[in-house]
Amino acid sequence: MTADPHCIFCKIVEGQIPSRKVYEDDELFVFHDIHPWAPVHFLMVPKLHIPSMAQVGPEQAGLLGRMMALAPKLALQEGCRPYPEGGFRIVVNTGAEGGQEVHHLHVHVMGGPRPWLKG
Ligand code: 5GP
Ligand code: ZN
Repeated sequence: MTADPHCIFCKIVEGQIPSRKVYEDDELFVFHDIHPWAPVHFLMVPKLHIPSMAQVGPEQAGLLGRMMALAPKLALQEGCRPYPEGGFRIVVNTGAEGGQEVHHLHVHVMGGPRPWLKG
């Protein structure tokens, strides 16, 4: 699945739409969400256009594993406090009934200090 000319996340990966980049390597691009739901909120996307988790097969297992292993490191780097006091939440909306609006697979990573929570 190559870049989709109508996909906003493909355009972000290619630099055609500006974003606040967190991390990049050969396969992954990570950037801050434009409408954060938490003090820290970034999106991890494969550079390849994969529409959603529903299209993921065994050939993407390594890439997904790498995303999960990278998420905690980037969360700390971006301001989430360490486990267990801090931490973060990972969400992958999939399909219309899963709340997915952008149809390029993306992992939401959300966290950061929440003064309204105790501790
Ligand atoms: P979904 O609902 O598909 O899981 O989430 C899509 C996310 O992409 C939303 O949280 C939304 O704020 C974010 N988003 C949509 N368009 C852009 C954009 O142009 N730039 C950035 N940085 N985030 C975007
Ligand atoms: Zn795309």
